[in-house]
Amino acid sequence: MKLLAVPAGHVTSKMPEMEGTAPNPVMAFVIQTAGETVLFDTGMHPHVREDAVGYWGGIARRHLVPVLPDDADVVSRLEAAGIAPKDVTLVLNSHLHNDHAGMNRYFPDSRVLVRQREWDHAITVMDDNSSGFVRNDFYDDSALPEFFDYESECDLLGNGVLTLVSTPGHTPGHQCLKITFPSGAQHILSGDAVYNAGQLDTGEPPAITWDRDVAVESVKRLAGLRDTGASVHVCHDPGEWHGVEKIQTVYEEK
Ligand SMILES: [Zn+2]
Repeated sequence: MKLLAVPAGHVTSKMPEMEGTAPNPVMAFVIQTAGETVLFDTGMHPHVREDAVGYWGGIARRHLVPVLPDDADVVSRLEAAGIAPKDVTLVLNSHLHNDHAGMNRYFPDSRVLVRQREWDHAITVMDDNSSGFVRNDFYDDSALPEFFDYESECDLLGNGVLTLVSTPGHTPGHQCLKITFPSGAQHILSGDAVYNAGQLDTGEPPAITWDRDVAVESVKRLAGLRDTGASVHVCHDPGEWHGVEKIQTVYEEK
């Protein structure tokens, strides 16, 4: 069983948490376990290379400026590591923002599982070009994803290996993924519940929130899981992913 990190370009930003820092990595992750190849987040749509403002709207001017080299989109990264889109059995997102769900529609043969409350929110704002939700990233009238929902936690495969942890606040349906290896070792993928690892200590929520108070509770929840011994991988933290330029193994157990 393996957890792989998939570096998929960067964003730069004038947001307080990100300004003056190194570019913030955009990350996806693959978990290989018992016949499943699960992709958590799908990075940015390749259109951002030619016309980021046209595709993402005004937020791409200053707020969230994408950098996506030719070989760095999620599908190219996976293919370079010998993983074709059809090999991915399950696609999930921490949330549906444009740097996390950009290539959801590139996996037509996979089960794409979308949390209902995130979808309900995203589709109401996806045509507002400052919302961070881009219709073309995840919405296809003729091929809707599979919807599901839960309150606090969801045991995805029914065997305790992959647990979605509800961490709303950044968006209404934001979720982290907790991965439990055979030894009991746990790794958690943060999505945007925090933007850097330091926020787990300060309790500071992301600057962009749908509901700040709810986001603060989610940071506490994530910090609590870390305090019980889980390794938390913060998707946009430049420190954690510095120098990671192709798919690499984060953790593995036989
Ligand atoms: Zn986000």
